[in-house]
Amino acid sequence: MSTSGQLYALESGVQHYAWGCRLRDGKTPYIAELLGASAGKTPWAELWIGAHPSLCSQIVADGGKEPLNAFIAADPQDCLGDKTLKAGYQELPFLLKVLSCERALSIQSHPDKATAEKLHEKDPRHYPDANHKPEIMIAITPFKALGGFRKAEDIIADLDKLACVQPWRQVYQEAASITPKALCDTLLNLPMSIIRKILTRLQKELAAKEKRTEREDLVLDLIKQYPCDRGVLFGFLLNIILLKPGDFLYIPPNEPHAYLNGTGVECMANSDNVIRAGLTPKNIDIHVLLNTLTFKSETVAAAAPQQEGEGVRLYACPAREYEVRIFDGINVDFSERSGVPGVLLVLSGSYELTWPGGRAVAKRGSSWFFPASLKEATAKPLEPGSELAMATVPKR
Ligand SMILES: [Zn+2]
Repeated sequence: MSTSGQLYALESGVQHYAWGCRLRDGKTPYIAELLGASAGKTPWAELWIGAHPSLCSQIVADGGKEPLNAFIAADPQDCLGDKTLKAGYQELPFLLKVLSCERALSIQSHPDKATAEKLHEKDPRHYPDANHKPEIMIAITPFKALGGFRKAEDIIADLDKLACVQPWRQVYQEAASITPKALCDTLLNLPMSIIRKILTRLQKELAAKEKRTEREDLVLDLIKQYPCDRGVLFGFLLNIILLKPGDFLYIPPNEPHAYLNGTGVECMANSDNVIRAGLTPKNIDIHVLLNTLTFKSETVAAAAPQQEGEGVRLYACPAREYEVRIFDGINVDFSERSGVPGVLLVLSGSYELTWPGGRAVAKRGSSWFFPASLKEATAKPLEPGSELAMATVPKR
């Protein structure tokens, strides 16, 4: 296959993680519906559009298929262009996903670049690469998440209302100044026997309450999902974040977060570096958590996109690996993105794609790659309400 400045159809794979959305009450999970696939009994968690070796998109052209990472490796100059290569990337620097969850994902943070390098050197098994992983989540449906620490006084006000969290309180009661870090430290170090007791009693205490706060409902829901996991108690420590469709969340390095339910478009640096804190059977590295988390309050919050122009929403964030735009029912001119690589996903409706010497129809759910060498191309919506997501390396 040659890269001669054209758009390439992709075949992108789905991760069927247990927390993904399932067929319920006749309602097809978002990702299955997007792809026009039959849902079956399996959960539909993530659609991956990119060149990550764990689930690489395939280029479909000339009657054959080729993994996108191999296609890029065969001609990095043409595919990635000067700007991306000079920034030190030999592969597509980002991964675009659709994520759809009906159960909570693990509470996690992603290290900054310097920490990622150190962790990878010391423990490559748990930290498989040396890269950081700035990520954004753009809500398609209402989306609920936990992110960033609350103020200590707000946490304590909530804990003081509950008798059963006494063993957790007792330790910090004596502390001269109670901080989110002290609360987190105590929680991570409580013996599992005590955690089990707290959670069993907490479930009873919360269930018996006539009126529960939003947070108490959330914690009760987490206990049902993870009955013996201390991560449930992070439900008291972190901010509840509710995204309206179209809004987004940027997760800075070293901020704890957990996606709870909803569907969204996610973009991240092409990395798999996760430091887990709870709601997971996987390894929890208490030492690394306490030494990397920021413990700052109000650093993670829902945000609205910038209107870059009529029908163009730009989801700006500090990541230098990617920027994401969503185009609402307008003609898209690719000459503005010439010189950097990108991927497309048709979220609604359909588009006619044209480039010198070629054209194609992009149906709903189809994904596409364009190399940096693409100079001229357009995407024209073929029906009202058509919506196109685009991730590229920033030109700035
Ligand atoms: Zn994350």
